Amino acid sequence: MISKAPLCIWYIFYRVLIEARIKTAPTPLPKPQPDLERYWMASTAHRLSQSQFDILQEKAGNAKATAYCPYSNFRVGAAFLSEDGIVITGGNIENASYPVGTCAERVALGKAVSEGHRQFIALAVATDISPPASPCGMCRQFIREFCPLDMPVIMFDKDGQYVVKLLEELLPMSFGPEDLKGARTV
Ligand SMILES: [Zn+2]
Repeated sequence: MISKAPLCIWYIFYRVLIEARIKTAPTPLPKPQPDLERYWMASTAHRLSQSQFDILQEKAGNAKATAYCPYSNFRVGAAFLSEDGIVITGGNIENASYPVGTCAERVALGKAVSEGHRQFIALAVATDISPPASPCGMCRQFIREFCPLDMPVIMFDKDGQYVVKLLEELLPMSFGPEDLKGARTV
C-alpha cells in the first residue's frame, strides 16, 4: 500500500515535469518565406537552383531591352541556360514585312546553337504583360529541335510573377529529330 506522503511527492514531481515540458516544447516551424515559396516550383519540380532561377529571370528581363519591335511595341526577352552554365539571350526582332520578324526565343536559340551550345536545361521568357505570355507555336517547334521534352520553360509577367511548364506540356505529341531516325529514303 502506498502512503499519502509519497503520492504527494510523486504529484509534485509530475507537475514539475509537465511545467518543464511546456517550457521546453518546440516552437512551431516558421512559415516559409515568400522568397522560398517563389523558388519552390522551379527548384523542387525542375531542379533549378535559386541562383540559376535568379539569373534566368534577370537575363530574360534585360533581354527585353534588346527587342526591336517598332510595330507592335511588344517586347519579349528570352534566356536559355545551357548545360555548361552559359546563358544566351535574345529579344524579338520585327520587320516592315511583318511575317519576316523573328521571336525572341528563336533569336536566342539561333545565337546559342551557332555559338556551339546544343544542350539546354531551362528557358526563361519575359514580357510586359500579365498573365505571362508563352512561346508561340513556331517557337515551340523550334525549341523542340534542341531541347529535352522535360526542360522547364519559365514565363515571367510584367511583375516578375511566373508560370512554369515543361516543353512537352507546351508541345504535346510533338515531332522531333528522333522521329526521322530510320526513316525510309525511297
Ligand atoms: Zn515565337
